[in-house]
Amino acid sequence: MIDLHCHSQYSDGLHTPEELVQMAVSQGVRYLALTDHDSVSGLEAIHEVCSKIDSSLQIINGIELTVSWKKQVLHLLGLHLLQPEKMKGLIIKQHELRKERARQIAGRLEALGMKNVFEQVQAIAGHDHIARPHFARLLLEKGWVRDIQTAFKRYLTRGKPAYVPTAWVSMEEGVDAIHQAGGLAVLAHPCQYNFTRTKLNECFETLKSCGGDGIEVVSGDSSPKQIKEMKAACDEYDFLASSGSDFHGKGLSKIAMGQQAPLPEGCRPVWQDWGIEQGSI
Ligand code: AMP
Ligand code: MN
Ligand code: MN
Ligand code: MN
Repeated sequence: MIDLHCHSQYSDGLHTPEELVQMAVSQGVRYLALTDHDSVSGLEAIHEVCSKIDSSLQIINGIELTVSWKKQVLHLLGLHLLQPEKMKGLIIKQHELRKERARQIAGRLEALGMKNVFEQVQAIAGHDHIARPHFARLLLEKGWVRDIQTAFKRYLTRGKPAYVPTAWVSMEEGVDAIHQAGGLAVLAHPCQYNFTRTKLNECFETLKSCGGDGIEVVSGDSSPKQIKEMKAACDEYDFLASSGSDFHGKGLSKIAMGQQAPLPEGCRPVWQDWGIEQGSI
């Protein structure tokens, strides 16, 4: 099994690299990409854990970059990064944007009556690379909402009181940085942006013109119809196809690590040149 999209505590995932490795091994995942939001900080730890155990699990270096495109926010996966350290410049930029945004979100929630938000959200995250799910967990802990979904719906999504728009790096910058690091640039979960067909095609055209390599044909709990449409988009734009669960943790994600549907027949998998034997997937 292969899973090219998952998160650890180094971003908004619930699990440590150790726990992710244990899960991967027990669930029969052979190839796992750690793709934390705008961070490669968990890679060293996950490689170390993996090297200490005797298993056939292989870790693929990854990242999920947050990019701005036409007033929209997109997620761009960098997969099979041969030199993840080369992403450093761009990561520092994104980290500063995240910190500044977190301060502003905290200010918004404080204006609504919550106290010491920045300190508390940092405590929940365990670091200062804050993502919105950390705020959602705080809202839940404080009893402001009954679940994570509601925290997003009432406070954290666009147009809601604690949403702060951010000028993330551009798609072009993202693709370039991923290529500099020796990786492949893949648009994450294309069906999750609620784009019209025209807008989605425009997005694929931009990705193509920036030199992007592929799209995530199977992501999390993609429907059979979505998978079919993304396979057709691969054919149309000559994109490689990726597959990942977008696992964030037990209780947070609908499907477990490695449990996403298989890639449809006829796709050119993003891992075609990684030396992976067909039979081992
Ligand atoms: P950020 O990059 O800090 O803006 O946070 C984005 C993350 O928030 C995504 O990767 C998801 O993990 C999570 N997220 C976004 N929208 C929702 C939602 N409606 N419900 C639950 N989680 C969400
Ligand atoms: Mn996330
Ligand atoms: Mn994403
Ligand atoms: Mn993700």
